[in-house]
Amino acid sequence: MKMFGGMSEAAGNCAAEALRLFGFWERRCVACREPFEPDAERENTPEGVLSRFFCSECRKKMKRRRTGFCPYCGEPSVWEEAPCAPCGQCLVRTPPWNDFLFFGVYGGLLRELVLRMKFGGSLACAEALGHLLAALCVEHYAVTAKPDVIVPMPLDGCRLHERGFNQCREIVRPVSAALGVPVRSDLLTKIRSVTPQELLNREERQKLKQPFGCADARGLRTLLVDDVCTTGATLRRAAECLLSAGAVSVDVAVLARSSRFENHES
Ligand SMILES: [Zn+2]
Ligand SMILES: [Zn+2]
Repeated sequence: MKMFGGMSEAAGNCAAEALRLFGFWERRCVACREPFEPDAERENTPEGVLSRFFCSECRKKMKRRRTGFCPYCGEPSVWEEAPCAPCGQCLVRTPPWNDFLFFGVYGGLLRELVLRMKFGGSLACAEALGHLLAALCVEHYAVTAKPDVIVPMPLDGCRLHERGFNQCREIVRPVSAALGVPVRSDLLTKIRSVTPQELLNREERQKLKQPFGCADARGLRTLLVDDVCTTGATLRRAAECLLSAGAVSVDVAVLARSSRFENHES
């Protein structure tokens, strides 16, 4: 079923490509798949990317969060209109990264597209979301020094095998191209341990607490990229690992930030 979906989408992409060559191509919304007239080419801003990939109705549902979140970790406040203020967790312990970028709260259409990309293997969603994240990063680094390398959040070997692709690598590609900064997928790796925890001595248990391993990152300013930030705990671990391997700094960019106030039941 999953494979069939992937194949039909690939066939659809090929057909669209062929039609485009002959001038018969119509643009379809990535979300609802209805044809739409895109706005005149807009610059590479998040809003410009939305107008390239989504119809006007779906665009309205892709809401960027501009206020009402923690500036350190993106944790959304109850009120969207509230000014940005540090959350309780960050007041106690500031995160190890410098800047935290995200597009919107994990919910609604944004969540649906992330799920389609992650579990449906939709490359169309990965492309649209990757360009959205890229535009967000371009906007941010227009006014501050760019990172030296982009680091995708690693997946477990078995999860990668199940899905067949790492969605994180798909979304970092446009970010890398837009910033002109190389991707270093080899830098951060997930350490998998099969040893039952009770059999380990204290020292080994300490090591197990850090699920990531990192190659030499001395002198590098890094941009860590993931699709969704749930609590920030895993990103903290990954950022700490990069810093302990010598990275000068870590920034974080994600598409969506989970909110305690968002209900996913519907
Ligand atoms: Zn649409
Ligand atoms: Zn916070």
